[in-house]
Amino acid sequence: MSAGDDEVTVIGAGPVGSLLALMLARRGHQVNVFERRPDMRKQQVSAGRSINLAVSTRGLHALGQVGLAEEVLRQAVPMFGRMMHSPAGELSFLRYGRDESEFINSMSRGELNKLLVTRAEETGRVRFHFQHRLLSYDFATRQAELRDEASSQTRRAAAEVLIGSDGSASVLRTSMASSAGDVSITSDVLDAGYKELTMPPAAGGGFALEKNALHIWPRGRFMLIALPNLDGSFTCTLFLPFEANQPAPCFARLVESTQVSPFFAEHFADAVPRIPGLEEQFLAAPLGQMVTVKASRWSLGPTLLLGDAAHAIVPFFGQGMNAGFEDCALLDQLLGDQSTPDWAELFARFSQARKVDTDAIADLAVENFVEMRDKVADPEFLLWKAVEAEINKRYPGRYLSRYQLVTFSRLPYHLALEAGKRQARMLRALTAGKSRAEDVDYSLVGQFIADELDPLTREL
Ligand code: FAD
Repeated sequence: MSAGDDEVTVIGAGPVGSLLALMLARRGHQVNVFERRPDMRKQQVSAGRSINLAVSTRGLHALGQVGLAEEVLRQAVPMFGRMMHSPAGELSFLRYGRDESEFINSMSRGELNKLLVTRAEETGRVRFHFQHRLLSYDFATRQAELRDEASSQTRRAAAEVLIGSDGSASVLRTSMASSAGDVSITSDVLDAGYKELTMPPAAGGGFALEKNALHIWPRGRFMLIALPNLDGSFTCTLFLPFEANQPAPCFARLVESTQVSPFFAEHFADAVPRIPGLEEQFLAAPLGQMVTVKASRWSLGPTLLLGDAAHAIVPFFGQGMNAGFEDCALLDQLLGDQSTPDWAELFARFSQARKVDTDAIADLAVENFVEMRDKVADPEFLLWKAVEAEINKRYPGRYLSRYQLVTFSRLPYHLALEAGKRQARMLRALTAGKSRAEDVDYSLVGQFIADELDPLTREL
């Protein structure tokens, strides 16, 4: 067999499956991708899940491996920090990074997906089979059962080397679990859901809110956020419990048009005049759910799960797709230039190396939900952020907060999680009994960084 000419089958042409196909093709492999939806470049179809999303360092690194980071950045709106909207409509800005060189990028999910599909196709080695849904996979015969969604015909296709990037409700994961017998899968559905609304550009053109920020209306058990789009609009997302005891708001009590406007007027008064047709938009918007999926096994012989299919996480760290792209980059690196890879061994090695990190980001993402909806308006949290900013000034380049480690570095997630725990211990001790960052004693911070953080962040 000549270098890299194995045929690989990929299920799902979402962002992860498309990037993976492109990477495999660049290594010389022939790739068949089966995607249940129509080709979104030809037909107006929902790209699924959120309309836009935040791409950051890990995702950009993976895109850089296939020469696409710059192109993606040109189509994105940089967000330098969080703009908090208080119930009274007061604004406060909290920078994400140390300075303007650190930002996250709001990008249209559909455009990103289309770009990846097109670039993969251009290699001449990737064939997309749209409207083909995987129904099941037989591990004994190594055949996939597929349904052509246009004709409703089912057929079987040989798939010797198979990668499932078919999202959080992965069919391949289910087939793997019933075939392997030793797979444990946990799927924790968050008790809060989400709905998206569009805030169009301002009347005279331009953005209706500060352009270069991720806007948050934190309200304790729920929140509204807004991410900018290139055309001057914002996509707003309301995260709210599905059900709650009276009088707490919940989706179950926002089903009549008479319930929607009073709720928004009470909690998000400054957003309301900027969202025309809010009531209609809200009632028409699908109610999304969010899930954390952990699977004890991602590979079985030459079959692998990747991206959300292996490890779906809730979206509050803006890392789900970034983590999936990081999966692709790691797999590509392990694959290297091997002429005839032992796929089963490669997939097992990849899973072994990667799972500790995706478990960590799953936990971080759930924690960040609490931080975003609740803590960003909390005085202790704001004091911690002010102290961290001061530490950044006093020890330039030596201290990165947990958020910065996750978002602006490629430090393995499990180390970022551990660093965050140590930082929290330090910040708690430093700020005990204090209410202002200038009253904190910083004399022991240098020693703390050297003893507790440097050993973790050495890889940076
Ligand atoms: P998916 O995007 O789910 O793609 C799976 C693909 O497989 C789809 O095209 C689907 O049609 C196809 N498919 C499914 N089943 C089959 C089948 N049986 N046969 C054939 N094809 C099939 N991540 C970030 O990094 N940053 C963010 O800011 C961010 N924001 C988010 C906001 C929200 C509200 C949500 C819900 C998620 C957000 N995420 C974010 C997470 C991100 O959306 C996912 O991690 C990412 O989409 C995973 O990509 P994927 O390709 O693995 O799966």
